[in-house]
Amino acid sequence: MTMPLQVFDKIYKIELPIPFPLKTTNVYFVDETPRTLVDTGIKTKASYEALKKGLEEAGFSIRSIERILITHGHIDHYGQAKRLSSLSGASIYIHPKEYGRIRSILHVLGVLKKVLLRNGVPEILAHEAVHYIESAQKMADPLEEAFFLNDGDPIPFQSATWISIHCPGHSPGLLCFYWPEKKLLFTGDHLLKEITPNPVLNVPESGAPLRYPSLKEYLTSLEKVEKMDLSLLLPGHGEEVQDPKGLIQKLFAHHKERMEHILASLTKGEKTSFEIAQDLFPGVPSFEVFLGISEAVGHLEILRKKGMVKVTERDGKDYYSLE
Ligand SMILES: [Zn+2]
Ligand SMILES: [Zn+2]
Repeated sequence: MTMPLQVFDKIYKIELPIPFPLKTTNVYFVDETPRTLVDTGIKTKASYEALKKGLEEAGFSIRSIERILITHGHIDHYGQAKRLSSLSGASIYIHPKEYGRIRSILHVLGVLKKVLLRNGVPEILAHEAVHYIESAQKMADPLEEAFFLNDGDPIPFQSATWISIHCPGHSPGLLCFYWPEKKLLFTGDHLLKEITPNPVLNVPESGAPLRYPSLKEYLTSLEKVEKMDLSLLLPGHGEEVQDPKGLIQKLFAHHKERMEHILASLTKGEKTSFEIAQDLFPGVPSFEVFLGISEAVGHLEILRKKGMVKVTERDGKDYYSLE
């Protein structure tokens, strides 16, 4: 699992363990000046040891890291950034929106519970889901010092310049990193080979009306990447993708199918997004309730904007029905 794999000239992929269904996160060490690590894995002993071993097998060490680029603010991607930075002196780069979300995670979790209840999640399940996400935060250190990258910003190396590409959807400030000469794209969780990336519900800062643009943004970001000149994708989990356009087509088709599934499920009468999520993913474990709802409300929001679905609030819950 920890064997570093040279996926491209001067680029080593190291898989780090995570205690989630995906099992590992990919980080990439780039042997250019400055030596750069793309994503960091979570902050656990096993993750740290696997990174150390992987770097050593490739002929480097933790101290070799001079710069850390973070695709997005989910713990499996930034969790040990602060620790690595303090050990190596590496500077950290991230999109400002992700930095802000990491810093305000407790506030976000408070709002999240209300959002889940409003989406029809039973109280006990909402409590469990929030508790699960909250306790997972122990596997990450919040960031302090970091530099910001926005869409189109250059990321200079001695012999090349990468470009930061903002692809909101899976998370609001997700960045892909593009190496134009090599037609390479580091995609974080924006594009994964075998798994459909979930446009995670972006919890609004406060109050009604609650709107959920994550999926719409995700599909727009897919179109953005579809237009790029690419030969290889280096994702945050799983294998490299040799056929970027084919993968993107598959994802568009997948979302279209899901949209039809939701419309069909609403022909039987009004439902909360929790009930729709249960139709889509029967028997989801409680900690994945949040992801199921994310998927459902993303589609419902698009259907609502198209005038195909309407939402009515009753007893503090949102009910969706066909227009
Ligand atoms: Zn993620
Ligand atoms: Zn991830």
